[in-house]
Amino acid sequence: MEEENLVERIRERYERALEQIEAAARSAGRDPRDVRLVVVSKAQPLTVVRAAIAAGIRLLGENYPEEAVEKMQALAAETEVEWHMIGHVQSRKARLVAEHFALLHSLDRLKLARRLDRFAAEAGRTLPVLLEFNVSGEATKYGWPAWDENAWEALVPEIAQVLQFEHLRVRGLMAMPPLPREAEESRPYFRRLRRLRDFLSRRFPEIAWEELSMGTSADFVIAVQEGATLVRVGQAILGPRKQ
Ligand SMILES: *Cc1c(COP(=O)(O)O)cnc(C)c1O
Repeated sequence: MEEENLVERIRERYERALEQIEAAARSAGRDPRDVRLVVVSKAQPLTVVRAAIAAGIRLLGENYPEEAVEKMQALAAETEVEWHMIGHVQSRKARLVAEHFALLHSLDRLKLARRLDRFAAEAGRTLPVLLEFNVSGEATKYGWPAWDENAWEALVPEIAQVLQFEHLRVRGLMAMPPLPREAEESRPYFRRLRRLRDFLSRRFPEIAWEELSMGTSADFVIAVQEGATLVRVGQAILGPRKQ
């Protein structure tokens, strides 16, 4: 009984989020099919992840590689799920990420790129990645510094190095601006990430830069209006995280 209610609650919130995404995309003259909803299941127990899958969700985002791999292994026999890594990756967790995830949203330093490339090569695969940028200047945020648009040129040499790795495929950009009190407060940061994408497209036209990962429960509607192709929504769909 309890479980069924959980599935129904998640299904309702998931469908509502999809409707909001569709409306936001249309209001911005975008095709809603260009936006994918990554449901963030970090710190949610297996019962909640199973309920999410029962509710029709097939794209999940996790922050902690070990926790994620445990969930993958527990669910592997049941359903095909696409798993994205969205959180900061410690160097010693690089192998797990290189081996297990369909997309890493949060590649934030050259040294990590080098390790991921090596482990992806050993695993015989190419790892799709997004580059994380700090567009707000908040000291606690990860990512290449990108809050000062006049300093973007200085990022070019290091980004060029990241693009050289044979077993990484850079597909776009990601940002995690400060938690807003109101969703509108995030808009300038999302716009900045989009402009940075345009800047990098001019500098590196050989790369498609097709993905923009931005927006959480607090502000995904604004993110879609500003061009997000991936939104990362946890609590608005799965409910509050335990712990
Ligand atoms: C936790 C997290 C999210 C989702 O946050 P919610 O408030 O649950 O929507 C999105 N992106 C990143 C990087 C996160 O760590």
